[in-house]
Amino acid sequence: MSVRLVMLGAPGAGKGTQGERFAREHGVPRIATGDILREAVQKGSELGRAARAVMEQGRLVGDEIMIGVVKDRVRRADAAPGFVLDGFPRTVIQAEALDGMVDDRTPLVVVDIEVPEDVLARRLSTRRICSVCGTTAQSNDVVCLKCGGALVQRRDDNAAIVLERLQVYEQETQPIVDFYRDRATFRSVDGDQTQDAVAADIAAAVASVLGVRS
Ligand code: AMP
Repeated sequence: MSVRLVMLGAPGAGKGTQGERFAREHGVPRIATGDILREAVQKGSELGRAARAVMEQGRLVGDEIMIGVVKDRVRRADAAPGFVLDGFPRTVIQAEALDGMVDDRTPLVVVDIEVPEDVLARRLSTRRICSVCGTTAQSNDVVCLKCGGALVQRRDDNAAIVLERLQVYEQETQPIVDFYRDRATFRSVDGDQTQDAVAADIAAAVASVLGVRS
């Protein structure tokens, strides 16, 4: 099934975990702008140098840069059958640009994962990522369950920056939920459930948009 899925939700809502699972099950790439930026920072590329300080403050990298990154990525051959976007769009300007990047052969399905703010703050403070493969984990895991790599806390998951990121989300990203809400391809799911239950709700939401059985 060809699908172009945009995962919306605050930091910690589960976009990464759910996006990766959905992408794997549907044989499409997950395009996570946060991962692309963290990789660029690690490599010290021009993009990484431009993004590093902004990311460490929990603020957003400029729209023009981000739109360029995603435009290049969705044009690659592996994204021709579809993709899952995680972390983009984050502003209304990015959402408008995304509309211009896709034709209307396959609809853009938009799923918003809703999680109460106190749950988000708790999840972010206990979140770890694998220093080798970037997979998300929790602080009670000892090593990465996928590759055995060492787990570290993301620099921007530190308590002060988490508050800033949740505020930036409220101000800049929440408005894109309103941008998409009236579309027939928009769904929202309850993200405060087990991972399996959220995954099942996302699959059902996408199937209902595409008119297929999940
Ligand atoms: P994430 O891993 O999605 O939480 O992203 C980590 C950080 O990367 C964010 O706090 C932003 O600083 C930056 N970032 C990721 N995606 C975007 C985007 N679409 N627009 C602007 N900044 C972004």
